Amino acid sequence: MRLQDYDTQTQFQAKVVATKRISPAESPDEVRELVLDVDRGDFVIEVGQSLGVLAPGQSEFGQEKHFRLYSVADVPERLDGGQLRLRVCVKRCSYIDAYSGEEYPGIASNYLCDLRESDTLILTGPYGLAFEVPAEPKANLILIGMGTGIAPFRAFVNHLYRGDTGFQGRVFLFHGARSGLDLLYMNEESDDFAQYYDNSTFQAIRALSSRPSWSQRIDWAAALESRGEELWNMLGESDTYVYVAGLEIIRDELDKVFGKIAGSPEKWARRKAELEAGRRWIELVY
Ligand SMILES: Cc1cc2nc3c(=O)[nH]c(=O)nc-3n(C[C@H](O)[C@H](O)[C@H](O)COP(=O)(O)OP(=O)(O)OC[C@H]3O[C@@H](n4cnc5c(N)ncnc54)[C@H](O)[C@@H]3O)c2cc1C
Repeated sequence: MRLQDYDTQTQFQAKVVATKRISPAESPDEVRELVLDVDRGDFVIEVGQSLGVLAPGQSEFGQEKHFRLYSVADVPERLDGGQLRLRVCVKRCSYIDAYSGEEYPGIASNYLCDLRESDTLILTGPYGLAFEVPAEPKANLILIGMGTGIAPFRAFVNHLYRGDTGFQGRVFLFHGARSGLDLLYMNEESDDFAQYYDNSTFQAIRALSSRPSWSQRIDWAAALESRGEELWNMLGESDTYVYVAGLEIIRDELDKVFGKIAGSPEKWARRKAELEAGRRWIELVY
């Protein structure tokens, strides 16, 4: 679906309650977490869904607003006053003009990253399907989050373990971000995932790049292949669900790795088709 086809008619005003850089100081990538309070109580959004942001545009070029989507990065909180408190995690993006080769700042991500406490912004949504907790209480969940794709999984894992979901299955989280964003969710200060380490059913497997060179690509293949046999066995079980989030290139990368793990690309294509048909392969890619 193209961005212009989304319905942005219903708009909500939100206020920035907090904004902080969450990528390590040494990382060249800036990722910020924004805490937003939505003024209207009728705005409802669930884990796995995305909200729309209407960033101001240049009206002289006929573009008054730029619409972009951002994943909910934690379980939404209902405040005493009825407002909804949301967290999003935004990477400051830039793009290279194909003709001039020049670099331009991304419109909405820079707008969001430049917002300060008490600033207001316009949201729309929600969009997309919520991540459902599988009906089978002992289901296996394989979560694969690349870059900012870890944000919806942070929300999902918090929902699974902190919420009243009755979930008793296993969670395998594969994650990696060049920005160091993943380290944030894993370090002692902001230990969202660390608090689940004691839980024998939760495992976080980090796809490393060789630091300190931040430009190194994340080695997804190695991380997944290191657990190849286990993954392949799980993928053969009827209560295994795979969730994938991040930039679109993750699709091709995963097809290559799983093709290897499966023994051949054809074998993997068949297994993936079965997972998709059973709605056990869920993607949030952008
Ligand atoms: C369903 C969905 C959920 C999304 N969730 C998030 C989220 O939680 N956090 C987030 O930061 N972005 C997320 N995005 C991407 C976001 O909507 C914007 O595309 C991104 O912020 C760039 O917008 P921009 O206006 O700044 O850049 P534009 O002016 O549109 O330029 C886009 C450039 O940025 C690149 N780019 C887009 N997103 C990323 C990214 N996350 N990391 C690295 N490069 C990127 C594009 O490939 C392109 O080169 C999501 C997109 C979708 C469709």
